[in-house]
Amino acid sequence: MRKTVVIGGGISGLATAYALQTSAGSVANYELLESSGHLGGKITTDSADGFLIEGGPDSFLTQKRAAVDLCRELGLGDQIIGSNHTATPSTYVLNRGRLHPMPEGMMLMAPTMILPILRSGLISWPGKLRMGLEIFVGRNESDPDESLASFVRRRMGQELLDKIAGPLMAGIHAGDPERLSLRSTFPIFADMEKTHRSLVLGMMKRKKAQAGQASKAAKTSTAKPPAMFTTLSGGLQQLPDAIAARLNPQQVRLNCRVQSLTMEGNQYSIHLSDGSSILADNVVFATPAYVTADIVQQLDPALAGRLRAIRYVSTSTVSLAFRRSELTCALNGFGFIVPAAEGRKINACSWSSTKFNHRAPDDCVLMRVFIGGALTEDLVEQDEAMLINMARQELREIMGITATPVLARAYRWKKSNPQYNVGHSVLVDEIDRAVEAHPGLFLAGAAFRGSGIPDCIQSGMDTAKKIMQQPSAAPRSTESNASPVPVAS
Ligand SMILES: Cc1cc2nc3c(=O)[nH]c(=O)nc-3n(C[C@H](O)[C@H](O)[C@H](O)COP(=O)(O)OP(=O)(O)OC[C@H]3O[C@@H](n4cnc5c(N)ncnc54)[C@H](O)[C@@H]3O)c2cc1C
Repeated sequence: MRKTVVIGGGISGLATAYALQTSAGSVANYELLESSGHLGGKITTDSADGFLIEGGPDSFLTQKRAAVDLCRELGLGDQIIGSNHTATPSTYVLNRGRLHPMPEGMMLMAPTMILPILRSGLISWPGKLRMGLEIFVGRNESDPDESLASFVRRRMGQELLDKIAGPLMAGIHAGDPERLSLRSTFPIFADMEKTHRSLVLGMMKRKKAQAGQASKAAKTSTAKPPAMFTTLSGGLQQLPDAIAARLNPQQVRLNCRVQSLTMEGNQYSIHLSDGSSILADNVVFATPAYVTADIVQQLDPALAGRLRAIRYVSTSTVSLAFRRSELTCALNGFGFIVPAAEGRKINACSWSSTKFNHRAPDDCVLMRVFIGGALTEDLVEQDEAMLINMARQELREIMGITATPVLARAYRWKKSNPQYNVGHSVLVDEIDRAVEAHPGLFLAGAAFRGSGIPDCIQSGMDTAKKIMQQPSAAPRSTESNASPVPVAS
């Protein structure tokens, strides 16, 4: 079997190596190189004093099956836990300094129920009227790649953009709604407009169809529908750990930084920071796009330029735990989001121990504050102690929490979140074409067609499949058709 080197031991690289290992068995000829001493990349779970703290992601979507299926395949089926059912509302929105319940039935930007919107004190009457006019708004016929902000403003109005869609949807990508591409981040809404014209009408049809399916399912099964967010009872780190346990330890190298890539005859020569090199027939990059750019710079500067055009932003999470008896507010929900117009330093706060079980001892609560992203990236430059102080100050002013935390941890994620800005899909197609000029080179991971954990797993699985389907000795050509592109700011 031809040799494959996978660069990057985050969930994308691990999924690639795992799929190669399971499909080729004992003859699987791969090596996984990870620059840090930790497997899992952004997935990192810490535990201390009965708390389970997620430094990076805390859950994955169940709709996209790759993560749930992989957990089951790895024997983690009994560890999968859904988000708790809370009395509605599950999320709050900070508006003029006060936490307001998100109207029931909001599906990100689109309402699925009318009455809760009408009753909501969050949206003004002119704002509600503008949302109602959505059913008369025509399709976007001119702009195939509209920004998230432009789409929401056009369909639902500025107020919904400012108060809900901006902080919630752009918040998921730590992005700027004026720059994020709707088609690359939430294609479901672009498709809904194409099919139904109106999101409100589309949502109603969808709800009706789902109700029909649910009543059919209820007749045949007593199982509860799956929760939207899923995690593992011992924390998400269980997933990379379970994959690592299936890999051959001889084929996984930690603390092994790749610096550059050149051709040596028909093979790739992978140069490591310790001065040594490895020869391989296939190379899978499961690294952030700007890291991949540096590695391929010498091999193909035009490809490197395109990879660098994918912008990344920095974020931070601060986890704080308090004694339940010292809080005056009920944490009845998953947390709150903060619209930019509020002028606060935090973007959102998850009430982690309400959202998921097994996160804190019974007499305590755990919450997680989000800082940074495209609009306030400079805040992440501060050190951990300052980030913790900032998070405490913000929770004091927003939630009235004056208690001293029993636990406080900050995680800084420098250049961690890829931005799928307008033009992203064209850029990714160009990158794909440039990579095709290098047989045996593959790109996986969060930078391209989905940054959620299930997308990353799927990208790793798909990459392994392509490698396994290769003809046994493909001819090499290193010519790239790509022309140089300017590096994006
Ligand atoms: C704060 C935060 C919260 C998030 N929350 C969620 C969530 O709740 N749900 C969800 O689905 N997604 C979430 N995401 C997104 C998701 O976590 C990531 O997109 C995903 O984990 C990325 O996986 P990856 O393997 O592609 O990249 P990474 O995890 O970045 O892995 C890349 C690996 O490459 C290694 N590496 C880098 N350079 C080199 C080199 N030169 N040589 C060798 N190795 C190298 C790195 O050390 C790293 O281990 C979140 C992201 C962040 C930052």
